[in-house]
Amino acid sequence: MDLTQSWLDAANDPATDFPLANLPFGVVAPEARIGLAIGDQILDLRACAGARLLDNLPAPILRACHSTQLNELAALGRNAATLLRRRAAELLMNPLHRSQVQPLLIPQSSACMLPPFHIGDYTDFYASIHHATNIGSLFRPDHPLLSNYKYVPIGYHGRASSIVVSGTAVRRPCGQTKAPDAPAPSFGPTRALDYELEMGFYIGTGNELGDSIPIDRAQDHIFGLCLLNDWSARDIQSWEYQPLGPFLAKSFATTISPWVVTLDALAPYRVPAFSRPAGDPAPLPYLHSAEDQARGGIGLQVEVSLTTARMREDRQSPARLSRGDLRDLYWTLAQMLTHHASNGCNLRPGDLLATGTISGPTPDSLGSLLEKTRRGAQPLTLPNGEERKFLEDGDEVILRAWCEREGHPRIGFGECRGIILSAQP
Ligand code: MN
Repeated sequence: MDLTQSWLDAANDPATDFPLANLPFGVVAPEARIGLAIGDQILDLRACAGARLLDNLPAPILRACHSTQLNELAALGRNAATLLRRRAAELLMNPLHRSQVQPLLIPQSSACMLPPFHIGDYTDFYASIHHATNIGSLFRPDHPLLSNYKYVPIGYHGRASSIVVSGTAVRRPCGQTKAPDAPAPSFGPTRALDYELEMGFYIGTGNELGDSIPIDRAQDHIFGLCLLNDWSARDIQSWEYQPLGPFLAKSFATTISPWVVTLDALAPYRVPAFSRPAGDPAPLPYLHSAEDQARGGIGLQVEVSLTTARMREDRQSPARLSRGDLRDLYWTLAQMLTHHASNGCNLRPGDLLATGTISGPTPDSLGSLLEKTRRGAQPLTLPNGEERKFLEDGDEVILRAWCEREGHPRIGFGECRGIILSAQP
């Protein structure tokens, strides 16, 4: 038996995001069934459990397959997902299972996906040094990077209640803004709506309040990764952010992709941590481990594209705005997680941590419009001649990500989409 080929042809298509090697987790509406993406289908794990196809797995895993969100499975630890994906791969590989398993597949084209987790808490980091430097240079040309950046993985506590799944429309927020030359602020729809190209990662098993998570154990606490768009209203942000950081400029919506790609699936694409230039401080000991330095990065391409209402009317394909790579982050996922718990803050199953905007060193790898248009000063021109400083109503932002490496199948994350609705009248 060929261990990479499925009896489901679509899973063997070299262009699919979801070959056998991926099997990301998601939750399917309307009954909130836990499933795994495979090719152009979803394997319904609740139905698999019901058909007694998972009977060789430990009972807690079987129970978690009947849950309506992934929190219960994530709480069981990384090994539970490993065993479940391994069994699913067997079912999808061995032609003997085909007649029993095929009726348990749901076509992705007809499926509506739900948020995969109950997300109790959401934290957004600032792990791209290129992004931090670009943003800093807009506001502080003389010293763009603050002196703490190379020591502390900077982050802020985000808002969990307004996290929405891909495909949910996002209403243009209203807020307080003040033009530099205006005598006083006014309240109204943002005129500087932006996206941020990010990856999120979910906590599996958490830590008790008061305990920390050593960096060498950090990977054991990560269930998997998703795409994440941290929508941002730049004019609201620049008026409100001092001295406590982002608030209403970001809390109106955050979009996540429905599929959660496990660290097991990402294992072949691990790369060394960001190589710090000579002269940079080494990470403090609690953020340093030989294993994390050797394999803490992930070679993962991330991409953002845009369609406008006119482009969709004219049936034009989305225009790519940026492509970056997760390996360009200054901090690893493990360093962010360990830092988060280092004061004894308890992380819980299903908590969402995000990397911050992923920007690279080149002009085609800037993960936000703020950077790309230099705060609107250099509008970008789309293929059909339309110009953008920031997002307009009717614009749709599409994030994608994937891993490729010689000798391994390409695996992807699906899509993270959101279309902008006009502000509340
Ligand atoms: Mn962000």
